[in-house]
Amino acid sequence: MKLNIQLFAVPFRRTSKTKKRMRRTHLKKEVGAITTCPKCGAAIRPHRACQKCGYYKNEDVLHLNTEEKE
Ligand SMILES: [Zn+2]
Repeated sequence: MKLNIQLFAVPFRRTSKTKKRMRRTHLKKEVGAITTCPKCGAAIRPHRACQKCGYYKNEDVLHLNTEEKE
């Protein structure tokens, strides 16, 4: 009778809490670049129009406030 058994590599020892945490010290989420809007001071991503006031390079590019009034 032929047994159909698959064998896998198994770790010799359980990785300790300390070793696991030491390895993961380099694993962290990076905080993206954030600047403040010169117009309203809100936190914005660089090279993008401000979501609050719609200004980019001191120019109203999104027209957020004008569309609401009309
Ligand atoms: Zn703004």
